[in-house]
Amino acid sequence: MSDCLFCKIIAGDIPAEKIYEDEDVFAFFDVAAQAPQHFLVIPKKHINTLNDTKDAALIGKLSLTASKIAQDLGFAKDGYRVVMNCNEQGGQTVYHIHLHCLGGRNLSWPPG
Ligand code: AMP
Repeated sequence: MSDCLFCKIIAGDIPAEKIYEDEDVFAFFDVAAQAPQHFLVIPKKHINTLNDTKDAALIGKLSLTASKIAQDLGFAKDGYRVVMNCNEQGGQTVYHIHLHCLGGRNLSWPPG
């Protein structure tokens, strides 16, 4: 989508600190990190929200990619959180689905 921030990041039109990319997914550090470790994993295919897909393989791949990156970055054993915000009450601000992966500190529960 031409007016989507994350589609522009995938296309290289907006700079981002890329961690990983393959034919399906793209991962990069969050520009406003909420923890010592905070990156996003997104599908290359534009999907507005989690409500707009039935692609179980792709949604699963986002999680497994986050786990692999957390292991590669060395904080998987200590622990981390993966979360996808959906729509307004879920706190979604960018309407191209993205899995947050946060780690590097103790994360409180419940979230705000
Ligand atoms: P959400 O509120 O769940 O939609 O999350 C959107 C996330 O995208 C936020 O954590 C932002 O900090 C992050 N973000 C927005 N613009 C950029 C950017 N240009 N590069 C990296 N992360 C971004």
